[in-house]
Amino acid sequence: MNSWMKKLALHYEKTRRLYPEDRLMILFDIDGTILDMRHMILHVLKSFDQNHSTHFFENLKLGDITVHENQAEKLLAQLKIPRKSCERILRWYETHRWSTEAVLVSHRPFVGVMEVIRWFQMQPNTFVGLNTGRPDYLRAETLLSLNKLGEEYKVQFTDELLYMNPHEWEKDVPNVKAAGVLHFQKSGYRVFAMLDNEPENLNSVSQVNPYGEILLLHANTIFESKRKKMPTGTVRGKVYDITELIQEKTLPRHIQFVWHGVNDEANLKQFLGSSIRWAECDARLSPNENDIILRHDAFHQTPLNDEEELLLLKDILHPLKAMGRSLKLDLKENGTLVGRVLELLEAHRLDGSHLWFNGGVDLLGEKGFRKLKKAYPSAIIQCPIDNIMPVILTDPMKTRKTLRKLQDWGINRFSIKWHTAHLRNVLDRIDWWGFEVNIYNVPNLESFLKAVLLMPRSITADFNFPKWHYFGRGSGEGHQHYEYSLTRLSRTA
Ligand SMILES: [Mg+2]
Repeated sequence: MNSWMKKLALHYEKTRRLYPEDRLMILFDIDGTILDMRHMILHVLKSFDQNHSTHFFENLKLGDITVHENQAEKLLAQLKIPRKSCERILRWYETHRWSTEAVLVSHRPFVGVMEVIRWFQMQPNTFVGLNTGRPDYLRAETLLSLNKLGEEYKVQFTDELLYMNPHEWEKDVPNVKAAGVLHFQKSGYRVFAMLDNEPENLNSVSQVNPYGEILLLHANTIFESKRKKMPTGTVRGKVYDITELIQEKTLPRHIQFVWHGVNDEANLKQFLGSSIRWAECDARLSPNENDIILRHDAFHQTPLNDEEELLLLKDILHPLKAMGRSLKLDLKENGTLVGRVLELLEAHRLDGSHLWFNGGVDLLGEKGFRKLKKAYPSAIIQCPIDNIMPVILTDPMKTRKTLRKLQDWGINRFSIKWHTAHLRNVLDRIDWWGFEVNIYNVPNLESFLKAVLLMPRSITADFNFPKWHYFGRGSGEGHQHYEYSLTRLSRTA
């Protein structure tokens, strides 16, 4: 059975096929759909304790909250708080739950929802609208807080795409949701989906959806209205899983993808069967120094094993070239390796536009990089810069100078790990300076897709993605990977 995110992807694809020129719009409710309101409840109740020197909520944790934000009294009853204190607490809660401070400090999105929004915002002629029951006087705070939360995901919300309740709080919300849909339709958008955590809101929208063009999605988080009000055809889900939403064929074409660790035959076969253009191989000299072999670990680290079948660089050049693929070589040694690699590539007449070299700054040094640049001026020449990451945000001028110097050596791509602190800010900074970035060490499909949403120039991954029928194994550094197994022959007759 398809998940709600998969159904959303299919419905979007279908709508796009039917209306190739239209401005397509997906609508999101905010509270309980984008925002996990339990954080707000927790924050406001803890602030009661702080301001009254009480200890009612000292041990209260996020997971303990199972009530809707309009039903705080139920939570107080569950916590067995004395009746006479309840009134004071509820008064505090009502006064502070929508204070600017609470909105800006305590609002948190559900895991994955910002990625889903980002994905749609990246699609051509596609828009994400907000359709909320919040009153219009909260417009400025709403945009400010959502944009602050969206920042690290490159998500932006705009005034024109926010429809709010023209009435007071909690008044007429279901009708407001239908009015929101009509408003956006009148403004020229074709609404194809609407997500809300309240069944009665979806029910109201279904009244203005006679042909079922709008896919209704119920965010099954915490809701107040009766489930039986759910219109037929509503799709329900809890987890915003981008691995269900984003299909391989819809990946952006301007990002270069690299299959990491093509050092053995199994990985090579997997790679050649994929639609990925770049294979990354680790090059070093064989123990007798007669050949260039593909192996991640040095022999002193991991001694040669009797059963190890070494793949030679010269043996993969022909299949790669014949199948129109390109080669990224991670040069693991200094000394004669660089010269030997260049000779071999030249002998096979490989074009610079199909080549990419990676090496450590300290390992290859200025001389090594200049040599690569001279031999292949049109190749990508890359070095990892993880060791200068800590200073990039604290001493940007110094970092920029370092990168300029490396650029002068011939390096035209900088590589950083997926698990870099403040990755979004780091990427923006390097982007702003006009350098290209590769992201590597991306552990799984979910992280890979999140990296895609940040739109670096390239991403290097193991392609250990069972969902896409890829079982890349990386460079054999001993990290985890999925394996597929054949259990039995199935009979078709
Ligand atoms: Mg809601």
